[in-house]
Amino acid sequence: MMLSELRRRFPSLECLGEEEDLIPYSFDGTAICRQMPAVVVFPTSTEETVELVKFAAAARTPLVPRGSGTGLSGGSLPVEGCIVLCMTKMNRILEVDARNLTLRAEAGVITEKIARAAEDAGLFYPPDPGSMKISTIGGNAAENSGGLRGLKYGVTRDYVMGLEVVLASGEVLHTGGKCVKDVAGYTLRDLFIGSEGTLGVITGVLLKLIPRPAARRTLLAVYDRMEEAADTVSAIIAAKIIPCTLEFLDRTTINCIEDYTHAGLPRDADAILLMEADGHPAAVEEEAHRMTAFAKEHGARCVTVAQTAEEGRRACLRAALGLRRARPRRADNHPGRRHGPARRIDEDGAIHPGNGRAASPQDRRLRPHGGRESSSHLSRE
Ligand SMILES: Cc1cc2nc3c(=O)[nH]c(=O)nc-3n(C[C@H](O)[C@H](O)[C@H](O)COP(=O)(O)OP(=O)(O)OC[C@H]3O[C@@H](n4cnc5c(N)ncnc54)[C@H](O)[C@@H]3O)c2cc1C
Repeated sequence: MMLSELRRRFPSLECLGEEEDLIPYSFDGTAICRQMPAVVVFPTSTEETVELVKFAAAARTPLVPRGSGTGLSGGSLPVEGCIVLCMTKMNRILEVDARNLTLRAEAGVITEKIARAAEDAGLFYPPDPGSMKISTIGGNAAENSGGLRGLKYGVTRDYVMGLEVVLASGEVLHTGGKCVKDVAGYTLRDLFIGSEGTLGVITGVLLKLIPRPAARRTLLAVYDRMEEAADTVSAIIAAKIIPCTLEFLDRTTINCIEDYTHAGLPRDADAILLMEADGHPAAVEEEAHRMTAFAKEHGARCVTVAQTAEEGRRACLRAALGLRRARPRRADNHPGRRHGPARRIDEDGAIHPGNGRAASPQDRRLRPHGGRESSSHLSRE
């Protein structure tokens, strides 16, 4: 009924209503909850979003905004009988303004595409949620997502300068702008950041970019005792070094990562500290040198230095994904498996079908999988 009415009112709109089509939208990264929506729709413009919001209001039907469904707080889980408004077809980068250090994009753009567009302009978009190859920038704003670089650079909120939001009434709100010193009045955008889609549908974002750091260095320190890793963290911060990444992996997490990636991490270690410095090359060298010294001083069994930026990036990505996987997994007898097994996200962010077969390009893989990299590429100090 709802589906046929939507198709009649919006002839060019992509709508899903068959049970097998709805299943992938009945859960998100939280995985322990599930609820089938009535319909899933994919708006391609703000105007279409407005009309859909008005349609839902007139039909008194709940509307649940959704990006890529990687959220870990159940935010994009449907409520019974709802319309899921999936924003992934609003996926255009509208402007990279290198003179004002800003980027404007539709809400469904994949986070990594934002980071790449900034990089292509010689700039840097720091927030790097572990899901960035899949998550959308609208989902990041709605969740105020962080990432490994949060310690030095902050989270998504720190980079959102403006938002375009469709309110429940169908009105379009534009909040914020490019002018840094435009400070008068309420900062309404902050209300929507982290609101998990409860206050409106984000259709566009204006993001702050910063100059790209000239150099980056990633280090891994391995410890026999967790306290030694904690003491290293305290020593680094006390020495007024703010690494862009300072992540602590305990033994459970190390083994989760190792089970999954076979990266060669030491399973017997009590803790691993992942450290990354970025900035001016001379400052990065010095900080990396000092962090190595602090790690050794506090009992690190060994300190490993990534030789290339790509190695460092992969080490960070593995850690981020590993941290996520330390959470309980979906049970094998989950009802969804009757219809089709849940997909699995590998350490490069590629999506696998989850049925034991290797991923194919049809599995919505975002980039060819580069294969596993041996930890022997890393040099030890
Ligand atoms: C492997 C993995 C690693 C992760 N790593 C991190 C991490 O490092 N840091 C971190 O903070 N999170 C992380 N997450 C959680 C998740 O990826 C983020 O919260 C991400 O921002 C969600 O984006 P999404 O596009 O998938 O949004 P969804 O999961 O689809 O939606 C998330 C919430 O945002 C709302 N929403 C989505 N789009 C819009 C929109 N356009 N307008 C209004 N509301 C909207 C939804 O209703 C929902 O409440 C990780 C998840 C996975 C699976």
